[in-house]
Amino acid sequence: ALSSGRVLRPAAVETSIIGRLAEFLPADSGLDPEGLLDKLEHGARRLGKLALGRHWVDGGLGLLVGLLAACQRFQVNLWWQGPVRELIVTTQPDRPADTRRIAGVIVERAGRLVRVFAGRAVVLADGGFEADPGLRREFLPRPSRPDWTIGNPSDRGVLQLAWASQLGLQLGGMGYAWWRPGLWASDVAVQDAGRALALPHGFVVDSTGRRFTDEAGVGVDVCRALYSRYNDLGPQSQAWLVIDSEHRKRYRLGSVEPGRPPKSFEQSGFIISAQTLPELAWKIKIDAGGLQATAERFAQQADDGRDTDFERGSSETQRARGDRKVRPNPCLGAVAKPPFYAVRVVPADLGTKGGLLTDEHSRVLRGDGTAMAGLWAIGSSAASVSGPADPAPGVGLAEAVVFGRAAAASIATSE
Ligand SMILES: Cc1cc2nc3c(=O)[nH]c(=O)nc-3n(C[C@H](O)[C@H](O)[C@H](O)COP(=O)(O)OP(=O)(O)OC[C@H]3O[C@@H](n4cnc5c(N)ncnc54)[C@H](O)[C@@H]3O)c2cc1C
Repeated sequence: ALSSGRVLRPAAVETSIIGRLAEFLPADSGLDPEGLLDKLEHGARRLGKLALGRHWVDGGLGLLVGLLAACQRFQVNLWWQGPVRELIVTTQPDRPADTRRIAGVIVERAGRLVRVFAGRAVVLADGGFEADPGLRREFLPRPSRPDWTIGNPSDRGVLQLAWASQLGLQLGGMGYAWWRPGLWASDVAVQDAGRALALPHGFVVDSTGRRFTDEAGVGVDVCRALYSRYNDLGPQSQAWLVIDSEHRKRYRLGSVEPGRPPKSFEQSGFIISAQTLPELAWKIKIDAGGLQATAERFAQQADDGRDTDFERGSSETQRARGDRKVRPNPCLGAVAKPPFYAVRVVPADLGTKGGLLTDEHSRVLRGDGTAMAGLWAIGSSAASVSGPADPAPGVGLAEAVVFGRAAAASIATSE
């Protein structure tokens, strides 16, 4: 087993296998290579691109290229701009309402509504509801803002909800999301905090200036701790990542490269800086005495290599998120060298986990527990099997792929 890198990673594929379809691929997000093997592989691919004009992708894009290649092989007809607006429901005359069957979809195409009948099945894969302010308010814990999602801006989930109520379909896990601590300021897009919270020379405090969680813990646990602070201190309370110049010199803060932060980030209020901790506390309106006491205690714990409050850096996975070069504990380092910086931390998400409740064959379930004829749901449009937990990075896509396959197998044998 490796202690760093990604849990699930599709093999790299060359985009030329899908021909001109490659033009439709979203831009490569250029994931940070982690570990030596990763770096060598990325380097080789960049060289290949430069020298041979070949373009390899992996991660989500690799998965996409694989799916598109399969579509080409089986001559699947793809419509790029064609949002589904309605389900076509058929009923058997003279029979009770529960003989309803999903027979197709109504799609908007070039400004017209087109009825598309499905031979066997309609598979919903239209994502979650992370981008919809109303549904977030209704189902997710508060506070919850649409600009705290890093998820898909077109995933609004409203149709699923409408169909669920119209057809009596069950929903599940509506209060859960793929939570990740985010770095945020109003009017600045939220950024995945990544490893910034787990690295030495920084800690997260609430308005009392005190730490309240193991910052190197799993993202969902850090976000739960944030929600518990909102419960205790009120929804207006704020949490801040406080770092010193050592952190800034060595590590990234979201998209901000190490070094002196660009002026634009300070002007927008994303990063607040100060020469002393009391001045920083005053600027971000938190208790200065509490912050000073936290910094002193944290420095002692960093020296000892043991966080006696939250056991930060006590497991191998946590240490992998820290800085291996820092001893004795790769997640602990004093916050002592000016200038000091603060960035607001919020419970951000990569998308929602709730959706239509399905069985092990991905069939959508009705209120009485039986399957809705003709309807399957996979990925984020279905309730996640992992419920409130976030077992490992990669589970979101793994669920989409595994239950996509289960749906295909079930449809192949359905009447
Ligand atoms: C920044 C980020 C990083 C992530 N990293 C990872 C990772 O490393 N590993 C991992 O496993 N998961 C990761 N995830 C989660 C993963 O991306 C999701 O679990 C996965 O994309 C869900 O796939 P999906 O097809 O169900 O939904 P989506 O990918 O959200 O796709 C839904 C699609 O449906 C379309 N749509 C919406 N409404 C309609 C409609 N009415 N008609 C037609 N189309 C519609 C949307 O435009 C969208 O294209 C990450 C997510 C984000 C945001």
